[in-house]
Amino acid sequence: MNTIVVALGGNALQRAGQTASAENQLKVVRETAAQLLGILKAGKQLVIVHGNGPQVGRIVLQNEAAAEITPPMPFDVCGAMSQGMIGYHIQQALGAEMRKAGLPGAPVTVVTQVRVDETDPAFLHPTKPIGPFYSKEEAEAIAADKGFVFREDAGRGWRRVVASPLPLEVVELEQVKALLTAGFVPVTAGGGGIPVVSRGEGLEGIAAVIDKDLAAWRVAEGLQAETLVILTEVEHACLNYGKPNQQALGRVEADRMEQYLRQGHFAAGSMGPKVEAALRFVHGGAGRVAVITSLEKARLGAQGQAGTIIYD
Ligand code: ADP
Ligand code: MG
Repeated sequence: MNTIVVALGGNALQRAGQTASAENQLKVVRETAAQLLGILKAGKQLVIVHGNGPQVGRIVLQNEAAAEITPPMPFDVCGAMSQGMIGYHIQQALGAEMRKAGLPGAPVTVVTQVRVDETDPAFLHPTKPIGPFYSKEEAEAIAADKGFVFREDAGRGWRRVVASPLPLEVVELEQVKALLTAGFVPVTAGGGGIPVVSRGEGLEGIAAVIDKDLAAWRVAEGLQAETLVILTEVEHACLNYGKPNQQALGRVEADRMEQYLRQGHFAAGSMGPKVEAALRFVHGGAGRVAVITSLEKARLGAQGQAGTIIYD
């Protein structure tokens, strides 16, 4: 059957400006689930990847704030916690929608590790801020104690930064395949996956942030999916975004999209990685399509009838 990998952005999990209570988060995930149901009703096999930036940020904050009472968990463990927390809400919300619609199967969250290369050049230039803000003195003390890297963040204080390496391999890919074959909806590589590196026979978690759109590409690649759908706040990727001559993109051939990317139309850290993930995916096999669109257009996007549609 046809497999669709959907990457959910921040707006699918949390509303900006709302208190990040469990109740509020579940409410947003319920709306997201209603959109995703449309894809399942069309008879597609669905796999869900999601972001975790604000959620893992709060888990780190909770751990740091309670450090005197109970040992703070390292960043990779916080990532695992965020996958469980978000996956739980997706299981509740989408599970309920599926039962109501009389669809078989159910969402199942897979705590997912993603292997990265320790010699990835990204480790030389950590860029992703994580966790709370510190004063310069605090930051220097922690840096000396734990070896963390800190950067000044836009006048708001000092924050720990970690690398954003390229995802090499989804460690639990076979488990995800088995769930799909059995008719379940896997939730995998949440927050881009927990970054791990090979250590002898085993794997070891490290502090890094894998871009969730690139992780979704790895998942889609590994599953030989037919469509990668990246759902975000905007209905289209645009040329000259935010300028008077802004132009929304509909169907675009991959080579042309690649030119636009090189011309700098898609901002690093937001639209850039989505376009990069889309291009990597469609270049990986014949007949593949990647779609970048808004959450509200999930069903139409998955059918290649809305958003920015990238084909080879
Ligand atoms: P998500 O949480 O869904 O991953 P991001 O905030 O990382 O979302 O990326 C989506 C955002 O990218 C849009 O809301 C928009 O503000 C921004 N953006 C940057 N460049 C572009 C572009 N060329 N076209 C459309 N949106 C863009
Ligand atoms: Mg966002």
